[in-house]
Amino acid sequence: MKENLEFGKLALCCFGATLLAGCYTVPETGRKALNLMPDAQISRLALTSFNQLKEDEKVSDDYEMNVRVNRVGKRIAESVGDDLPEADWEFIVFENDEMMNAFAMPGGKVGIYSGIFKIASTDSMLAVVMGHEIAHVVARHSNQRMSRQILVQLMAIGLDSSMENSSPGSRRAVMAAFGLGATLGYEMPYSRLSESEADHLGLVYLARAGYDPVASLEFWRLMEEENDGEKPPEFLSTHPSGEKRREQLLELMPKALEEYKKALQDGKVQ
Ligand SMILES: [Zn+2]
Repeated sequence: MKENLEFGKLALCCFGATLLAGCYTVPETGRKALNLMPDAQISRLALTSFNQLKEDEKVSDDYEMNVRVNRVGKRIAESVGDDLPEADWEFIVFENDEMMNAFAMPGGKVGIYSGIFKIASTDSMLAVVMGHEIAHVVARHSNQRMSRQILVQLMAIGLDSSMENSSPGSRRAVMAAFGLGATLGYEMPYSRLSESEADHLGLVYLARAGYDPVASLEFWRLMEEENDGEKPPEFLSTHPSGEKRREQLLELMPKALEEYKKALQDGKVQ
């Protein structure tokens, strides 16, 4: 009995220490987040996927697009600075005019699909999408998603073993309800929080890099227009509604304009 108690204490201590070590404060928003995975390991995984993507997809050799993406990317990377000290930045344009999308991976690997240029007609607009994607990386959102999955798995194992004496049918029903509850009540709100955090952080980075933050309003409006018609209701979506996003951007705009003014005074020209 005593041994069990000692073991329990030890396990609790280890778990507490892991949680403590995995606690991360997101720059700008100051949110405390749980990162259970080592960053270096996630960056290594990301690098493998990025290299695979470069093999599988057509890398664009369009001179103008490549120059623009590298120019904007480097300036945003500079304004990110020490918020992502381990980054080994790389900016790649993938040739796919149907994909109006971009992504950034842990470690600083950024991919832009050529379709995004239909919307991102200016460098400031390109900075909006690149800033947003890079902000996801700075805030370690993929680490937090993996950490949440680990916790949900642990809870599921605990719940399942607590029902050892129940019938298989009710055990299955409880586990299904738990899975749905975890998705709707835990994962989705966090995904939406990650989106608005990336908007917030991205806006600061692009303004600090000397791009006009007001361009974000036009960029997301056009994006929304493009994606119209296939929108799930907001509570089922991992993205904020256009209206919510606009409200948040307008709220953050005075602070972003301050950063923009400072950047222009420092000689960062568009
Ligand atoms: Zn996002």
